[in-house]
Amino acid sequence: VHRNSGAGDHVITLPHGRIGGGEAAIIAGPCSVEGRDQLYKTAKPLRDAGVRFLRGGAFKPRSSPYSFQGLEEEGLILLREVADELGMDVVTEVLSVKDVELVARYADVLQVGTRNMANFSLLKVLGSLHKPILLKRGMCATMEEAILAAEYIASGGNNDIMLCERGIRTFETWTRNTLDLAAVALFKQETTLPVVVDVSHALGRKDLVARMAFAALAAGADAVMFECHCHPAAALSDADQQLDMEQAVALVRHIRDCDACI
Ligand code: PEP
Ligand code: MN
Repeated sequence: VHRNSGAGDHVITLPHGRIGGGEAAIIAGPCSVEGRDQLYKTAKPLRDAGVRFLRGGAFKPRSSPYSFQGLEEEGLILLREVADELGMDVVTEVLSVKDVELVARYADVLQVGTRNMANFSLLKVLGSLHKPILLKRGMCATMEEAILAAEYIASGGNNDIMLCERGIRTFETWTRNTLDLAAVALFKQETTLPVVVDVSHALGRKDLVARMAFAALAAGADAVMFECHCHPAAALSDADQQLDMEQAVALVRHIRDCDACI
């Protein structure tokens, strides 16, 4: 994945669009899939605004075992149904080696969450898969470690990897994590991989999402990922950071309008 062989920027081609190589991509959707109604009411306005990549967790890596853990296969089925109906691609997390086959049956992109970046047995299995991987930087991982995690996947033969900055742990508490924008610029400079910035998990609050989405694009990100929900106050996970659909659509339109000037 290192930019040392003169290789050009890697572009990920999905059924409904491309990530990398030009136009800013937007990956949006709820933190968790909670049901058909919630997923559809969240996805439809996004699709109408031009978003082609739908995110949503079916297997959730929650800090507490007593928190909502996700709908699992039922969630995957809903993601596939809604995405097919609207003409979108599905980005969803795989938590464990034992679920890779199941998740790959429904997803267009398999996400490795921050807590699993150093799960090398999972990375090795994903290296032999013929599906793109969205690899999140570990919340305490150096850039070098993140790039080596991508190498674990690439060395198995799967080069369709997006590197995702989602904030790292620092002493700061006013944001959930600290968004490392220098990492975005450096990932672009040091690797050929498309770079995604998950502004929602980096910030943990919705008031800064739009501003930091533009900062991410200015730093060189190929895609911005954010969470939104048709009724954020009732969300079963990450209620504080999910945009409502009016805010989400406004952000998508704003990014579309400004993409060419960044
Ligand atoms: C997510 O994107 O649903 C998620 C859990 O993110 P992270 O792994 O970055 O915490
Ligand atoms: Mn979340």
